[in-house]
Amino acid sequence: MMKLIRDPRQMHLFSAKARRAGRTIGLVPTMGYLHEGHLSLAHRARRDMDITVMSIFVNPAQFGPKEDLKKYPRDLKHDMKLAKDAGVDAIFYPSTEAMYPDGYKTYVGVRELSDILCGRSRPGHFTGVTTVVVKLFNIVECDVVYFGQKDAQQALIIKKMAADLNMPLKIKVMPIIREKDGLAMSSRNKYLSPGERRDAAVLHKALLLAKSLIRRGRKAPAYLVSRMKDLIRKKKSARIDYIDIVDARDLSPVKSIKGKVLILLAVWIGKTRLIDNIIING
Ligand code: AMP
Repeated sequence: MMKLIRDPRQMHLFSAKARRAGRTIGLVPTMGYLHEGHLSLAHRARRDMDITVMSIFVNPAQFGPKEDLKKYPRDLKHDMKLAKDAGVDAIFYPSTEAMYPDGYKTYVGVRELSDILCGRSRPGHFTGVTTVVVKLFNIVECDVVYFGQKDAQQALIIKKMAADLNMPLKIKVMPIIREKDGLAMSSRNKYLSPGERRDAAVLHKALLLAKSLIRRGRKAPAYLVSRMKDLIRKKKSARIDYIDIVDARDLSPVKSIKGKVLILLAVWIGKTRLIDNIIING
């Protein structure tokens, strides 16, 4: 039987009991409205660990005042069915009041890495993420936590935080799961109209274009970015937030394509902001 746990103290008791019995615990943090991307993390946790906990929490701290917190899609019933079928042992589904009671004051942030790329367009976003993730780590007391490469900057920031703060857990980052036309799965894809949905495939196409140009010997980041921009601008509904090519280890700028580079982009398709990325071994 899969458990649904709402109270953070109950969640901690559940974990404490499992740990006393010598069981290992894997955590899959999500905001719900589950898709195959989330489930791939759950499947991996189930394979590696004795107990799989999935958290579902639409974290207000990581949304800007003009962002989609209110309309973010939610469907707990369906999520519970999908999680159960994926072998999740417990869903942690706290209320906002339980996570951020009146008078809440503490935020955990990672400097510099949180201010670039997505952090430029979403000030405060990553501090909201790292704060809730620390809370989840403390509540669930997991041995391993699973994140998706879809949110590449997020995964790197959390790894940095865990290392800097000596957190006693392991972080695993799993590959991006895509739709047939290459669009990275995302709960926000639901916002797209049919026309926008077709245009949205251009994000992945642009990443593949960069990859093929690199294979043909083009090594200048500025050239690659400009070719990607040209491709994306052909779609009427698309407006580029940013495209960047950085060192995959620490998000620092690169002058040429060598070693492991990360190409990231954020593009507005109509009113929906989508992100995607690819790692290339130059
Ligand atoms: P979210 O519910 O969007 O906050 O995502 C929860 C976790 O699932 C994060 O670690 C994401 O990186 C991961 N994730 C979301 N979409 C995908 C995807 N298409 N492929 C792999 N992981 C994903």
